[in-house]
Amino acid sequence: MNARILDGRSLGRTIRTQIRADVEELTRNAAVVPGLAVILIGEDAASRVYVTNKIKACADVGIRSTLIEYPNDVPAEALIDAIKHLNQDPAMHGILVQLPLPPHHDVRAVLHAISIEKDVDGFHLYNVGGLVVGDMIFSPCTPFGVMKILDHAGIPVEGKNVTIVGASNIVGKPMALMMMQRDATVAVCHEKTRDLAQYTILADILIVAAGVPNLILPQMVRTGAVVIDVGINRLPDGRLVGDVDFDGVCRRASCITPVPGGVGPMTVTMLLANTVSAARRFVDRTRGPILEPKRLEGAAPLT
Ligand code: NAP
Repeated sequence: MNARILDGRSLGRTIRTQIRADVEELTRNAAVVPGLAVILIGEDAASRVYVTNKIKACADVGIRSTLIEYPNDVPAEALIDAIKHLNQDPAMHGILVQLPLPPHHDVRAVLHAISIEKDVDGFHLYNVGGLVVGDMIFSPCTPFGVMKILDHAGIPVEGKNVTIVGASNIVGKPMALMMMQRDATVAVCHEKTRDLAQYTILADILIVAAGVPNLILPQMVRTGAVVIDVGINRLPDGRLVGDVDFDGVCRRASCITPVPGGVGPMTVTMLLANTVSAARRFVDRTRGPILEPKRLEGAAPLT
């Protein structure tokens, strides 16, 4: 079997065309240009690449973005104060703090300082808790992007066995909750899981987000499974790979996302979608619902 490639780059481009039109409509009808503030702390090279990509993507669809940089040793209070200031800024509808933070910062305190109406990464406790009952304002971008890939490919989730490898707060756990909302049967694996293959082999849909190259080998994958590789790993020779042995697993899976070009571009696309949704909510809150509520399925309900 040669797996069908689920092309996140191409899907991302299609969705961004719609987002660009939404931005134009907001600008034309409400005189509001969606704005995203991105906070980068320290000199982590990978974080800088991610932030640069996000800012470029904003420019591409007409979202106004601003990059706020701090040195590694910025005091926690200064960071929280900056976030509070942005919470009040009517030109900034979304706030993103690039993770990971330097170790002396309390990540939870920083994320919780962000107004829930501007939490476009979906990491505030309100949005995380909302995932449990399916009532969040913003879905976290990476799992949201994965759901979009599956939906676009016409892959049903209801009743399927879904195994998620990786249980982080930003990918694995929210992914599990989103899958449960869609009536999948979910197993979540992590580093202490004994006999990982026992769980991966059961999966109709296998989602891998561990950050370990070649963690998933062909014999761990059920024939015909859908494989979503969230991992991004830079090898010593400079190549970018996921967590899945792509060539080997392609021969067993029915569908697979590549790295690069799979989940990564969709994560950024969902950030753009959430930012536009935040701007639309701002307009509705401050001036009443003067615009047609257009939004991507799975994004925030307009209240
Ligand atoms: P993380 O916070 O380091 O979490 C990794 C998770 O994987 C943890 O739950 C860990 O288990 C588990 N794990 C590690 N080694 C394992 C193993 N050998 N077997 C089973 N589970 C294992 O990482 P993250 O932020 O979730 O990111 C995961 C990967 O996705 C990274 O490669 C990251 O670069 C990538 N990523 C990609 C995107 C995208 O847009 N494509 C977005 C975010 C992240 P414990 O909980 O027991 O430690």
